[in-house]
Amino acid sequence: MVNSVHPSSVHEGHFDMVVIGTGFGSSFFLFEALRRKNLKFLVIERGRHNSHEWQLAHHDNSDIDHDATFHSESGKPWNFTIGLGGGSNCWFGQANRLHPNDFRLKTLYGVGNDWPLNYDELEPFYGQAEEVMSISGDPDMASMFPRSTPYPQPPHHLTSPDKLMKKAQPGMHFVMPTARARVATEQRPACCCSLRCWLCPANAKFTVNNGLIGIFEKPNVSVCLQSTALRFEGGTNNIRSLIFENGGKEYRVHGDLFVLGANSIHSPAIMIQSDMGGGHTGKGLHEGYGIGVEAFLDGLENFDGSTITTGVNYSEYDGPFRSESGSAMISFENRWPFGFRAERGRWRQTLPLTIVVEELLEPGNHVAKGPKPGIPEVVHKGPSPYAQKGVERVMAALPKILAPLPVEEIYFRNVRRTESHHQGTMRMGRDPALSVVDENQIHHRWRNLVAVGTSVFPTCTASGPSLTAAALSLRAAGRII
Ligand SMILES: Cc1cc2nc3c(=O)[nH]c(=O)nc-3n(C[C@H](O)[C@H](O)[C@H](O)COP(=O)(O)OP(=O)(O)OC[C@H]3O[C@@H](n4cnc5c(N)ncnc54)[C@H](O)[C@@H]3O)c2cc1C
Repeated sequence: MVNSVHPSSVHEGHFDMVVIGTGFGSSFFLFEALRRKNLKFLVIERGRHNSHEWQLAHHDNSDIDHDATFHSESGKPWNFTIGLGGGSNCWFGQANRLHPNDFRLKTLYGVGNDWPLNYDELEPFYGQAEEVMSISGDPDMASMFPRSTPYPQPPHHLTSPDKLMKKAQPGMHFVMPTARARVATEQRPACCCSLRCWLCPANAKFTVNNGLIGIFEKPNVSVCLQSTALRFEGGTNNIRSLIFENGGKEYRVHGDLFVLGANSIHSPAIMIQSDMGGGHTGKGLHEGYGIGVEAFLDGLENFDGSTITTGVNYSEYDGPFRSESGSAMISFENRWPFGFRAERGRWRQTLPLTIVVEELLEPGNHVAKGPKPGIPEVVHKGPSPYAQKGVERVMAALPKILAPLPVEEIYFRNVRRTESHHQGTMRMGRDPALSVVDENQIHHRWRNLVAVGTSVFPTCTASGPSLTAAALSLRAAGRII
């Protein structure tokens, strides 16, 4: 049972560490902190603990409508889950590492930013995060993403088109790494390929609920659910306390260290609400720019893989083109988002692709003070020319990339309205003038405040961000605790 406490029992109390949010960033930080020291922790979580059974019964990840937690006129959707475990409840489980050159975008290609750490520094923590989540992956990926430990689980089964691609392009085409179990673990059965990963009916994908719930059951970890962090109170360089709301009442708690992991919309909102914003806080809200494409195949049947997305192709991921247009990750789908091919006897002779292109952190895309506390304003002006040029480049390259397959026709199907990967509003960096938190994710000014989760990303790669958020938290906790 989660060690849930009523806010009145912690009001004006003091904790060694106050953790806001329970998604990837916060949970992995808390996991590592608990391994290191027996401290007194308080967790403030805006949502409830909606168990997997509750989610299945209600056909939803949360009882809170995430759209109601921010205001925006821009019309662009931003997806996340409010509740214990945050986005681990709704994520699809694609668990790619970032490419080594993703960390050096400015140095190599003169655009965006460099990260204040490199791939090699993060590599052991990638391995640790993969172990915790029991990631299934392709050992061949080590040629592009060097690794010191093997993937905990064997790779998923490829589709027939994937097998041809991998044979022809062994250094570019791999089995997608994923938290959807290939073989059963102690907590999870194997993926049943039901294709509704946002709420896996078999509970086969890693979630905080099935993989890390134990950290919230410890006697030294008190959890205030349905409690919204509103603002900090602090001195010149230190945070003293956090004000949060529960049931219409405000409560105050004091702490030595504060961990801010309320997602990349709400984390900066809390800073701005505390009059601790400024600089890059809230600026550069972004996510990858995605499109849907379909290739009709002559005589080659698809959809015989073992999970929803089976292949990932890196042909257009890295190269000098990144100085002018975004890198692209091409996912080979074992599902039919555009329906089956409507021709007798040929319904499986089609290949859907999801292509996500790297974005830049435009300052015009930002989080600002909203109509009331806890409801920030989100401003987004649409994709950058850099991302749009990336789409044009990858569309032009597709016939060559797909040459190993008997392709009849390639169709551009749609612009995807969201990748559900929002990032970047508390960006990390060495220079306080260009970033919000330092290389250890400690705020440049408030030195007992650590930002965790995807808000700290200083660039927007084409890869899914959650494995990296988890690895960063393991690293930061090890350096701070
Ligand atoms: C449908 C979907 C599919 C996705 N698939 C993938 C995928 O396949 N691969 C991938 O890498 N990523 C995927 N993502 C993205 C992934 O979910 C996020 O990148 C990840 O959850 C971000 O982690 P985080 O810790 O920054 O934030 P979250 O995981 O969102 O955690 C934030 C936490 O803070 C809490 N909170 C918010 N505001 C407050 C407040 N004011 N006070 C207290 N608590 C608060 C929330 O309830 C939550 O617990 C997907 C997302 C969605 C929606």
